[in-house]
Amino acid sequence: MPTTHILGFPRIGARRELKLALESFWRGDSTATQLYSVGADLRRQHWQWQLDAGLDLLTVGDFAWYDQVLETAVHLGAIPARFGHDAAKLDLAAFFELARGNAHQPALELTKWFDTNYHYLKPEFDDASRFDGGVRWWIDATADAARLGRPVKTVLVGPLSLLYLANYRGTGDVLGLLPRLIPAYRRLLAELAEAGASWVQLDEPILALDLPKVWLDALAPTYRALQGAGPRLLLATYFGGVEQHAELLKSLAVDGLHLDLVRAPQQLAALVADWPVDKILSAGVIDGRNIWRTDLDAALDCLTPVQRQLGDALWLAPSCSLLHVPVDLAAEQRLDGELQSWLAFARQKLDELRLLKRGLELGRIAVHAQLAGQRAALESRRHSPRCHNPAVAARLTAIQPADWQRTLPYAERAVQQRERLQLPLLPTTTIGSFPQTAAIRSARAAHKRGELDVPTYRSAMQAEIRHAIERQQVLGLDMLVHGEAERNDMVEYFGEQLAGYAFTDFGWVQSYGSRCVKPPVLFGDVARPEPMTVEWSMYAQSQTQLPVKGMLTGPVTMLQWAFVRDDLPRSTVATQIALAIRDEVVDLEAAGIAAIQIDEPAFREGLPLKRAEWEAYLDWAVRVFRLASSGVAANCQIHTHMCYSEFNDILPAIAALDADVITIETSRSAMALLDGFASFAYPNEIGPGVYDIHSPRVPSVDEMLVLLRRAASVIPAERLWVNPDCGLKTRGWPEVEAALAAMVSAARRLRAEL
Ligand code: GLN
Ligand code: ZN
Repeated sequence: MPTTHILGFPRIGARRELKLALESFWRGDSTATQLYSVGADLRRQHWQWQLDAGLDLLTVGDFAWYDQVLETAVHLGAIPARFGHDAAKLDLAAFFELARGNAHQPALELTKWFDTNYHYLKPEFDDASRFDGGVRWWIDATADAARLGRPVKTVLVGPLSLLYLANYRGTGDVLGLLPRLIPAYRRLLAELAEAGASWVQLDEPILALDLPKVWLDALAPTYRALQGAGPRLLLATYFGGVEQHAELLKSLAVDGLHLDLVRAPQQLAALVADWPVDKILSAGVIDGRNIWRTDLDAALDCLTPVQRQLGDALWLAPSCSLLHVPVDLAAEQRLDGELQSWLAFARQKLDELRLLKRGLELGRIAVHAQLAGQRAALESRRHSPRCHNPAVAARLTAIQPADWQRTLPYAERAVQQRERLQLPLLPTTTIGSFPQTAAIRSARAAHKRGELDVPTYRSAMQAEIRHAIERQQVLGLDMLVHGEAERNDMVEYFGEQLAGYAFTDFGWVQSYGSRCVKPPVLFGDVARPEPMTVEWSMYAQSQTQLPVKGMLTGPVTMLQWAFVRDDLPRSTVATQIALAIRDEVVDLEAAGIAAIQIDEPAFREGLPLKRAEWEAYLDWAVRVFRLASSGVAANCQIHTHMCYSEFNDILPAIAALDADVITIETSRSAMALLDGFASFAYPNEIGPGVYDIHSPRVPSVDEMLVLLRRAASVIPAERLWVNPDCGLKTRGWPEVEAALAAMVSAARRLRAEL
């Protein structure tokens, strides 16, 4: 009989209960006791759902107050000395100082969790780091779960991943901490056993990366040293294949191994061959990263022979923690019944596990009725005209190489654009959005609720556009924007107007701490029934003689920030989006717009975890951007904007986008990023952000001038733009005006020096 379990459940709550409780506690509106009790209720609820679905193990340790990586570290007792807290006495308030900073200390660094949209906190270690034991949250939770009468499995981040993902500030080598870390893990394992854990799941997701040899060499001795310390150990890998380490993993001193068979189904063969008789193999066949209902027939086909070989040593699970999907589909009102029948959120995935187990155990006949329902849903999705639009497919096959090629090379385009736009040297501009004031938000919300009719809403937004244009003219900016008042979110705004996208009411996924995002569901062929932005752009342009940039979101970002259909390659879906955006670009040009910006902040985020796969990704990511942007004449200036990232290792791809102008976030690195662009001899125009919009601080003319001079020393002035490093929607008008006035002065001073 196969054992069913999950690697983790979303902790934020179906109605974001944890978010609300955390924020209330942080504001001082509730006590730690109240927060503890919200946490306890959520954990109990999640275990109850696991019990209801008949899972054989209850999972503990997946519930974190802020982040499971930092929380693993504080269970072991490692706390950065700069906070001055005692690990053993750490309470919630002190813990949140590590996560969020305090008056004297910045928070730990927040970074993307592999290729997900979750962000973890990097534990900080140095040579003095001690691992003498810390909080007992997961030990207590293990004891609570054990009282429910089902075997318990507690999750920890494994020792190698913990070290690899940390910020090491010491003088030697972070692996040098292992001799101190292992006894701490052993102690924690023993305590978990005592609290009632039958299993401990040690997550080692770094095994799916291109791991340096020293790390691989450390694996066997580390796990040998943990053996026998407490409960049985399940080593969990996910987000990629580990077949290249098959022999190492089969001989590792653990009791079981989990594989992500959704992301890397091909690894199964290499691992089941000569699978050791005494080890569990946990097959992650239900997608923990996406929301589509599982094809259980396919899963049964894949697993039946494995079960014949392994018998009870085969376990069933989602591919990775369910942290990355929303909690419960049953809460949705906005999605129609058909669309809902195609989806499974975390709770529904528990039921899929149960069905899969019964199918394997008793044969398909025994679960015939449920499987029939499942099949009918999949069948309807496979053939639905909502998903398959022949006109879109035909357009894709008709694409020619010339479609992703501008009519002239950059140097010749630049001459025409200079002539048309008549901009000064070092032109000033902004990234697109202006402050989203309370008035704007409430007008948008009222319009959405149907309380504000279209003409009234339109004139309210036009008034905002007029205001933004007027302020920009007074400030002396050279290329203007309309301000994006009508947009709630740069993906949602377009998704709502495109065929193929749907939106949920409660499809929240934790991004970090109490922050959640609600990714749209990209379920069908993407098409643009009507122009999306042309009216607003034309209105803005009618208010000024200066050029106003059209403002669009690029195909990679539209893809990256959504739950994407799994029945087409991502590159195909991105191509569909690119064609829709291309139509918009062409319409903007026809309406007289002379410069169009296509934002791609998520361009780098799409990079695969393994370097060997980078080239294939960059190849199509570049092509779809070019497809979106190449429908216009040479004198139409294409801008793009990217932020949140390091670009130096993908500069050839960024240059290959062939945007006329790219604006990038560099101010926080004091323009260090530009050195890469300079040494690579980036050929087109660049606007390195000259101030950090993430901070309310208004920068001085002088400090921006310093940055600009630095930029001008590495990029020829004819190709340099002056702009903030991202959109201004989260700021208030007074700071925006002060900062932009200083920015314009800095540009003017540098112009005078040249
Ligand atoms: N045009 C968008 C804005 O200004 C860009 C946002 C982003 O880079 N994430 O808000
Ligand atoms: Zn940005």
